[in-house]
Amino acid sequence: MAIALIDGNNFYASCEQSLDPSLAGRPLVILSNNDGCIVARSAEARKLRIRMGQPYFKIRHELERLGVIVRSSNYALYGDMSQRLMNLLESNCEQLEIYSIDEAFASLTHPLDYDPGPWARQLRALVHQNIGIPISIGIGANKSQAKLANRLAKTVATNAGIFDLLMAKEPDSWLEAIPIESVWGIGRKLAHWCRMKGVTTALQLRDMPSNQLRAKCGIAGVRLQRELRGENCLPLAITLKPKRETCVSRSFSQPITSLGELRQAIATHIVHAAKKLRAQSQRAGAITVFTRTSLSAKPYYNKSATVKLELPSNDTEILLKESLTLTAQIFRNHRPLIKAGVLMQNLQSTSQLQQHCLLRINEEKSRKREQLLKTIDQLNQRYGDGTINWAVCGISQSWEMRREKLSRASTTRITEIPIAIA
Ligand SMILES: [Mg+2]
Repeated sequence: MAIALIDGNNFYASCEQSLDPSLAGRPLVILSNNDGCIVARSAEARKLRIRMGQPYFKIRHELERLGVIVRSSNYALYGDMSQRLMNLLESNCEQLEIYSIDEAFASLTHPLDYDPGPWARQLRALVHQNIGIPISIGIGANKSQAKLANRLAKTVATNAGIFDLLMAKEPDSWLEAIPIESVWGIGRKLAHWCRMKGVTTALQLRDMPSNQLRAKCGIAGVRLQRELRGENCLPLAITLKPKRETCVSRSFSQPITSLGELRQAIATHIVHAAKKLRAQSQRAGAITVFTRTSLSAKPYYNKSATVKLELPSNDTEILLKESLTLTAQIFRNHRPLIKAGVLMQNLQSTSQLQQHCLLRINEEKSRKREQLLKTIDQLNQRYGDGTINWAVCGISQSWEMRREKLSRASTTRITEIPIAIA
């Protein structure tokens, strides 16, 4: 059996380029929340040596001079593109473990002498044709090898986006080309420790004495080394564990000081969280709301409050009512708040509803509620978030995230679909 790691190249930038042809082949960077710093770069921007994590305000003029295009992060777009990518991969792979927004492990249970090259090339072409983003495919005996192979697929131009460590003529020489810092699971500290020991490449890590590795980082290190040697120690996690908690939080574009604004922000987060719960077919048994000032504020203030619900729920109205009571408890005058959030806890599946011996549930009424909320979710999905909203979220939100350079919601909002003139 072999494992493939399939990874979207420069995913956020590629999503933007895929939907706006004028960005293709141009240097492009994506900014973090509130247009803070650079979180993604197109291949062209990488070539200009623009580094990740740089604050936008510091390099704004430099970017202008270099002709780099700037976009605010459009997470609705990236999330939707990710779902499309994963759906396509799922129908073209035997088993798939979705590892992150743009990465998935796939198992290939072919005979040992089978060359998965044609399958990989076909998959790459299919994704490009259907979703318009480039992917890299790395193949190895296990997850750790697939990760390394993926790096070689991406960074060595002659590999053209696909690399199979199992079919390689001289796998050792490839492993030798990978610096220790780039091995999956080796953090900065551990890489430093390895270098002090003269272990500077993936190959040297594979061949170093196991007892040294065990003494330094326990079973995790030994497992990694065994994987580099070809054993399979980390099985695919195919079935998703149901989530136990769901959190929605944001930093404000500017500090807020009134209870009204905090209520708006918390209500907005609750509306999102409730929608998430319904999409996950879950109900929350408890809610926590929290807020804080900037970490450097003097005096620093942070506060949270929790309520246990009598009956677990994903009904926005019930969750709003409970959380707004809590909001009054966490608010303090004269504290400039820069962040607030909600945490949905004790989640349970909608397939099992805990009954309450004192609270009678009217089935007819709860069915109607469910239908109403489903309709609201569908309308918001089709016409864009906020098409139907709760008045308590407010109409103009002074604290809303700064996103001055946001691209269109081309895949999720019907009014923003790209128009092709033929
Ligand atoms: Mg990626």
